[in-house]
Amino acid sequence: MKQLQDKIMQDGKVLSDQVLKVDSFLNHQIDPPLMKAVGEEFAERFKESGITKVLSIESSGIAPAMMTGLVLGVPAIFARKRKSLTMSNHLYTADVHSFTKNETNEISVSKDFLKKGDKVLILDDFLANGQAVLGLLDIVEQAEAELVGVAIVIEKGFQPGGAMIREKGIRVESLAILESLADGKVKFKEEGPS
Ligand code: 5GP
Repeated sequence: MKQLQDKIMQDGKVLSDQVLKVDSFLNHQIDPPLMKAVGEEFAERFKESGITKVLSIESSGIAPAMMTGLVLGVPAIFARKRKSLTMSNHLYTADVHSFTKNETNEISVSKDFLKKGDKVLILDDFLANGQAVLGLLDIVEQAEAELVGVAIVIEKGFQPGGAMIREKGIRVESLAILESLADGKVKFKEEGPS
């Protein structure tokens, strides 16, 4: 997606050869027109899938998930990271190891919002080692819902998450795929289709 790639080139900051900082438009300050375009692009790519819920994870997945849900006309759910003290029998939970923070969080989704028969699009801001997506996938399975695919704003193609999820036969659509962050430079793997 050219608009996203241009924004990454203009405002993304390469923190190391592993980490891209995009807090001026995605992870802290949010660029609403760009998020709207992201939502429209995901909705277009998955328009034939009969999606009933978009499932993301707090906090950086919320903006693109909401915009995608808006265009598709379906709710956006975000898994919560805080520990569940009460109502734990009414939650689906999974453990997710965070790549950027190097800590494991229990994520949870209320059983009220994800049910058998739902057709779910998992969506996140970044795909690195795939742990966040695996945790969300676990929750979709617990709910006996159907996964239609995984939508990623920025995939780090040099880390193993994308291949690991695709090897499971899951459709992964990433709007920008990074080939490398070496030498302080962003290199894209491929042009998106739009
Ligand atoms: P994974 O679970 O695929 O290893 O990592 C995905 C999660 O880690 C995303 O939800 C994202 O918040 C965070 N993440 C991974 N790599 C990066 C990165 O290079 N930059 C930023 N800003 N977040 C990242």
